[in-house]
Amino acid sequence: MKSTDDNVNPAEIEKFGSMASHWWDPDGDFKTLHQINPLRLKLIDETVGLRDKKVLDVGCGGGILAESMAEKGAQVTAIDLAEALIDVAELHSLDSGIQLDYQLISVEQLAEQQPGQFDAVTCMEMLEHVPDPSAIIQACSTLVKPGGYVFLSTLNRNPKSYLLSIVGAEYILGMLPKGTHDYASFIKPSELAAWCRQADLELCDSVGIEYNPLNQRFSVSKDISVNYICVFKKTDTSC
Ligand code: SAH
Repeated sequence: MKSTDDNVNPAEIEKFGSMASHWWDPDGDFKTLHQINPLRLKLIDETVGLRDKKVLDVGCGGGILAESMAEKGAQVTAIDLAEALIDVAELHSLDSGIQLDYQLISVEQLAEQQPGQFDAVTCMEMLEHVPDPSAIIQACSTLVKPGGYVFLSTLNRNPKSYLLSIVGAEYILGMLPKGTHDYASFIKPSELAAWCRQADLELCDSVGIEYNPLNQRFSVSKDISVNYICVFKKTDTSC
């Protein structure tokens, strides 16, 4: 990782980087990301129309979402601060023959270089791992074109999300490695929306990602009490 970036928790980068080799194993540590990916990809594609759009994926990890957006015809730039993950993502795209631009750079630095360049910016399952999520959101807003979309997903902060996403997912069902999440860093939708409003992003839509332990499937729902995705538009006109 780069040592010059302030808005980063080095322990988080180490943690994700150390799991790089398992990233693309559909039954490995990141099984959940593989399982939810078709749901979030559909939401993004239906909102933006990915073909030929210029899209930025912030905190791309090993590239599960980034590669799937490129496969839909988007011109994708994907960034992360874990070098091992950028390496894994690049190798995977070479294997699959899908072209994307992976870069080891912070979103704040990219925002200085390429303001207003992207039709859509996605930042999924990352905000709960950074010291100052509002600064990440501000940078995402700087990077998107007026009228473009920003997609943010994270975990809500309430007793139910603690029980399901930490006790249940990490300790009982073993869906995520133990220690993946820190409850105090979870983000309420109202907090997310307030940071976004300050960054000139208007809330268009919120959906929940719900897990059914009986059939072990994820689905999109109206229930945003645990894992949720919000869609924002950079504009002063309505959604
Ligand atoms: N967005 C991906 C990966 C989520 S895991 C997906 O949903 O499939 C969280 C990712 O955020 C990890 O890859 C981690 O390295 C990255 N990350 C954490 N803090 C970051 C920061 N400040 N800047 C960029 N990436 C960060």
